[in-house]
Amino acid sequence: MVTIKGKSISPGIAIGTIQKISKASSSVARTTVTDPEAEVKRFEAALAEAEAQLAALYKKAQKEVGESEAAIFEVHGMLLKDPDLTEKVKDVIRTQQVVSEFALSSVKTSILERFSSMEDAYMRERTADIQDIICRLMDILTGSGKDQILDRPMILMAEELTPSNTLQIERKNLLALITRFGSSNSHASILARIMNIPAIANVDIDDDWNGKTAILDGYTDTLIIEPTKQVLSQMKARQKEEENDRRTLQAFKGIESITSDGHKINLFANIGSTEDVGSALENDAEGIGLFRSEFLFLNRSTPPSEEEQFQAYKTVAENMEGKKVIIRTLDLGADKQANYLQLDKEENPAMGFRAIRISLSRPELFKTQLRAIYRSSAFGNIALMFPMIISVDEVKRIKEILSEVKADLDKQGISYKDIEIGIMVETPAAVILSRELAEEVDFLSIGSNDLTQYALAMDRQNPYLDAFYDPHHPAVLKMIELVVQNAHKVGCQVGICGELAADLSLTETFLRMGIDELSVAPVGILGLRKKIRETSLNYD
Ligand code: PEP
Ligand code: MG
Repeated sequence: MVTIKGKSISPGIAIGTIQKISKASSSVARTTVTDPEAEVKRFEAALAEAEAQLAALYKKAQKEVGESEAAIFEVHGMLLKDPDLTEKVKDVIRTQQVVSEFALSSVKTSILERFSSMEDAYMRERTADIQDIICRLMDILTGSGKDQILDRPMILMAEELTPSNTLQIERKNLLALITRFGSSNSHASILARIMNIPAIANVDIDDDWNGKTAILDGYTDTLIIEPTKQVLSQMKARQKEEENDRRTLQAFKGIESITSDGHKINLFANIGSTEDVGSALENDAEGIGLFRSEFLFLNRSTPPSEEEQFQAYKTVAENMEGKKVIIRTLDLGADKQANYLQLDKEENPAMGFRAIRISLSRPELFKTQLRAIYRSSAFGNIALMFPMIISVDEVKRIKEILSEVKADLDKQGISYKDIEIGIMVETPAAVILSRELAEEVDFLSIGSNDLTQYALAMDRQNPYLDAFYDPHHPAVLKMIELVVQNAHKVGCQVGICGELAADLSLTETFLRMGIDELSVAPVGILGLRKKIRETSLNYD
């Protein structure tokens, strides 16, 4: 038995046999051909097959995880047509009279280097995608791609978790994922979490594990290869407990989120796409506390039109059937880059041109989104929220823009509701000014992810800082308490929609502070409701 520590990127326990994703050998023989034009045709057929596979994957992803996650396969389709890849391979086939596999592997390094050294962060991040495409082509050429199909439940092991690897396999046969590389913010990790598949990265994977029994514990960042009988039965018991816990939690559907001594709070869900509403409803969310609208703006070549956005917001509003839906306006910038915005490269992007700063500098982009949100307000219970606020002046400027948007809608006879507006408290500046800000808006929502980053001067994306990034830091908790006190003085409601809201070890602390709303990933709702109902604040 070997126990290995990695980094969990999606929780859960899985027990099963490991299957390494079969990739074509990295060293391809230099086999020559007598008819290079016939070989070029063979390569073109592989390109056509790859295109067809990507189109099928796009459709499958659209159905299973939603439009925004599926869009990556459109990006792959575009990258597949990059002449730097296709023409160079054909060139090598013709000039060196070699098989396509050799030509492809000989251009691979230079194309990967070109992508990884690009100035544009978005394009740099596409390095893994271009690698994925090259692997797909190689699999088609060598016929080894078929081996990737899991005909029975397996734990999949791969060098890197790519979106296609994740989606290409029938979900019922995918028990878990193990990878050498991977960050919690990659498309693949997001997919794994949406699909509820336990996953662990940063594992020094070994080909010898192929076919061996393993236990992946996404709660303790642990991978156990060839567990002893005793460990296996312990983990099977834990897995059963996990299943039972999930079943028990069903009892917490349809009841209030109220402490045992009568303090009620709102328990909402965070979503990133229209498709996530299903999971929010399934887990009995009382509303949507954070709809990260920027996901609608990623993996595309132009921003979504007013109509496209309107349809998305209206769908969420209608499906939530009168429950509140808080739509956060665009929080692009930093790690969420949209190429079409043509933002300059920044030395310090987390502190740079992002979120409301972009919206206020691009009034057309902002107004299009606001129009779409106001139009959708006629179809449900929508509220508007603004990210990364640092001053009262910003809020006043936003309100002027809202008045302009509403005046335009009035002129056009388009109906809308006068919806609530709120801001995210994610910066120490917003904490200090929380009373003044609360006077301007209907609600505040604390973004503990960014608040921790800015309060502790600690890059939330940097894996080397994992051990230091501490959202339980007393300074962060005191800031949250101060915001609640200041907002309540002027009758303004306060929620938390950062990851900390789901931290059960802090539920009682937040309830004692007087938090009005907690908004968490849909799968966390019932456990949190149970925790709230078991808590007594014992105020006499
Ligand atoms: C936060 O910062 O806590 C938050 C909810 O926003 P995001 O994670 O999208 O930055
Ligand atoms: Mg944030």
